[in-house]
Order: sequence, then C-alpha cells, then structure tokens
Amino acid sequence: MDRELLHTIAKDYNGNPIHINNAIKGIKYFCPGCNDEFVLRKSGKTGKGSRRAHFAHKNLTPNCTTEGYLHSSFKILLLDRISSSLKNKLPIDIYWDCIYCKKEHHTNMLIGVCSVEKEYDMKTCRPDIALLNEKGFIAIVIEIIVSHYPEDNALSFYRTNNIPLINITLNPLDPIKELENIDAKIRRPTSVDFLSKMTCPSYRPYLAQRQRPRLFLRFDPMEAARRKVAWERRRFRF
Ligand SMILES: [Zn+2]
Ligand SMILES: [Zn+2]
Repeated sequence: MDRELLHTIAKDYNGNPIHINNAIKGIKYFCPGCNDEFVLRKSGKTGKGSRRAHFAHKNLTPNCTTEGYLHSSFKILLLDRISSSLKNKLPIDIYWDCIYCKKEHHTNMLIGVCSVEKEYDMKTCRPDIALLNEKGFIAIVIEIIVSHYPEDNALSFYRTNNIPLINITLNPLDPIKELENIDAKIRRPTSVDFLSKMTCPSYRPYLAQRQRPRLFLRFDPMEAARRKVAWERRRFRF
C-alpha cells in the first residue's frame, strides 16, 4: 500500500466505522481493508510541516491495497448510515437519470425496507449491501465499485428477478475525498436499474416493447416475398 495514504476511517472491535476525529487514545482500531491493527497518529502539532491526524498500519508491510481499503471503508460507512436511518425512521433520498425515459427520478430508497445486510448470501451472488423488506425478501441491492464490476452472473440474476440495483463507483486515485463525500455519493448513485419499475411512466411500455415480437425490424425483400406467398396460400385454403 502507498505509505503516504493518511487513512481517515478505521473500524472498532464491533466492526463499526470510526472517523479519525472521533478516535480515542487507548482504544484499538483496525484497518477495514486488511483487518490489521491501526495505530493513531495525532501529532498535536499544527502549522507548516505537520501532517493531518490519521490511522496507520501497525504492521509496516501490510497486505493491503488502496482499492481494498476504499471499498471496505465505504461499505461499513454506508451500512452504518443506512442502519441509523432505519433506526431513526429517516429517509435516504436518491436521484438518478432514468435509462428508460431519460428523465430524472428520485425516491426514498428505504421505502418498505426493514433491515440491511452486508455481503448477503443469495447463493448465486453476494451483493455488497442488501436491503430487505419485512418478509425478509430483497428490496434493493447496492454494489460498491472500485476496481471490480459485479460479476455477470450477479447482474443477470438481479435482472431476471427484477431486483433493483444501485451502483456506486468510487475513484481509487482519491480515496480520502471519496470517503468524506459519502452523502453526495449516496444521493447521486452512479447508476440505478429496476427501481424505475415503481417510479417510471416509461418502464411498462419499455417492457412491452421488449417483449413484442420483432417481425419487421429490418426490411428483407426475399423474406417479404416468402411471407406474401405463404399468406396467400393460407388465404386460398378457405
Ligand atoms: Zn489495511
Ligand atoms: Zn424513467
């Protein structure tokens, strides 16, 4: 890992995210990416030459990547945000450009949601975060993308089962800024699919369009002549 990365997020013994500003001396913190112990670096000095307070790996050669750290840190921050909104019955409003009607939609993504799970085992796949309704069924899945896109089999599973998918892409070149921007990142996810089935006036027409047989997609004179002959033969049978 880049030795200069000044980690601002750690997790405590319970797996909860802790921002460097809330870290307390004497308590153990761990790296969300590799689970190694972190040490607190608060110089106390200010002004020129002093570095911002941060967490650093206790092990000088950690088996940790910036991508892994960013992915896991964002995931525990998002999980924490969703859990506390659910507990306090607060909405989380999201906005996105619809792929069906090309207009902007918005919704509270916690409508009908009762609980949140990390790496929920769906047999075929394991989304980063799953929102469940009161019956324990999946309401929404959230994928956090740093360097790996969700597997194709996961995407087709979501699509076949009409499971709304929210993708949030993070830039590994600026991990600290991405982690500070969590509210904006949730408010405007990178892409949203199938949530449109609740909100989009074009979604049902789109589905109907997709399911209609495409007989005259391309005009083929040979095919048209063959059809005409077949049709006339059929007509003469009556
Ligand atoms: Zn680490
Ligand atoms: Zn739409």
